[in-house]
Amino acid sequence: MQITILGSGTCVPSLERSAACIQVADGRTTVVLDTGPGSLRQLLRAGTEINAIDLLCYTHLHVDHTADFVPLLFASKYAPLPRTRELAIMAAPGFRDFYNSLMHAYGDWIVPENHALTWLEAGQPAVVGSLTITTAPVRHTQHSIAFRLADSSGTSMVYSGDTDLCRDIITLAAGCDMLILECSFPDSDYREGHLTPERAGTIAAEAGCRQLMLTHFYPECDPQQAVCSAGKHFGGYIHAGYDLLKINI
Ligand SMILES: [Zn+2]
Ligand SMILES: [Zn+2]
Repeated sequence: MQITILGSGTCVPSLERSAACIQVADGRTTVVLDTGPGSLRQLLRAGTEINAIDLLCYTHLHVDHTADFVPLLFASKYAPLPRTRELAIMAAPGFRDFYNSLMHAYGDWIVPENHALTWLEAGQPAVVGSLTITTAPVRHTQHSIAFRLADSSGTSMVYSGDTDLCRDIITLAAGCDMLILECSFPDSDYREGHLTPERAGTIAAEAGCRQLMLTHFYPECDPQQAVCSAGKHFGGYIHAGYDLLKINI
């Protein structure tokens, strides 16, 4: 299973860190989790053809996680090689209404013509290609969810989206090979609904994951300091995520 951090940043415009977007691929199935603004160009930089994506996952409706959904649909329809393969979507509650609202705004321009859109119910395990996907609610907005993806050999990764410390993310991440957690703010600047490095380290330790990846850094959160701070609680390897980082697990 290969994980690519396409965007390790937030809503803050940055030349170094694109907004939230993560790709998981195992050679047979390609999943993209969140598509914040700039994600289409990040996919291009990572060498991913958008028509190769099998499943889009959305953790919540905030703009730094969803903005490139519309450009993706538009490009799937009007780029020189329009998409013909089915595209599955598994998203936080409310996302289908969000899509319907977008259709009101953009009309047929974003309604697929040559491929099916398949909506998978979050809350129930789903199998897409070679991967099994499960979700859990997390503590951020009212309807935020985190995702766990596992391949047939049992290798697994968990992506928190935005969250605060909560029991559900610990349970979802239990024993996973790679836990990707948001790490918005430094320990000295805790804000409800987001993680600090120490809180991220606590989740990783309690979940018993093998490796931890920190991402979603606001500019005031220094990634290297965050790794040290999370390491006070978690003894496994800790990565400071950056754009286009690829890791095989
Ligand atoms: Zn965010
Ligand atoms: Zn958010």
